[in-house]
Amino acid sequence: MSSDCLFCKIVAGEIPVEFVYESDTVVAFRDISPQAPTHVLVIPRKHIATINDIAPEDEAVIGHMYTAAKEIAAAEGIAEDGYRTVMNCNEGAGQSVFHIHLHVLGGRPMTWPPG
Ligand code: AMP
Repeated sequence: MSSDCLFCKIVAGEIPVEFVYESDTVVAFRDISPQAPTHVLVIPRKHIATINDIAPEDEAVIGHMYTAAKEIAAAEGIAEDGYRTVMNCNEGAGQSVFHIHLHVLGGRPMTWPPG
């Protein structure tokens, strides 16, 4: 845990947030500023600041973030129409919280390329 990390505080229950999914290693909750009708963030319980900080021993939890995303998409009813998963790395890509998180966005048409 990183004591000054917002998402570590959410994992620790210091900031009350309703989890839409949780397991031993991952939790998910709705984005506070949703960019689509469904906008959920899937995060590891472990503090990993950016994609650049992912270690070989984190491979299982990174994979689990996607199986969680798949289950969340099914529960949200967006799995068949389609949804987007995004993980931004560092400021230049728009990362603003430095604890990795997989955005799961759906419920509206998506355009490509992203801005
Ligand atoms: P990124 O810009 O990729 O780092 O995404 C960070 C996301 O965290 C943004 O979409 C924010 O809206 C979201 N966010 C920030 N604070 C909270 C919070 N307290 N609860 C839920 N989502 C948050």
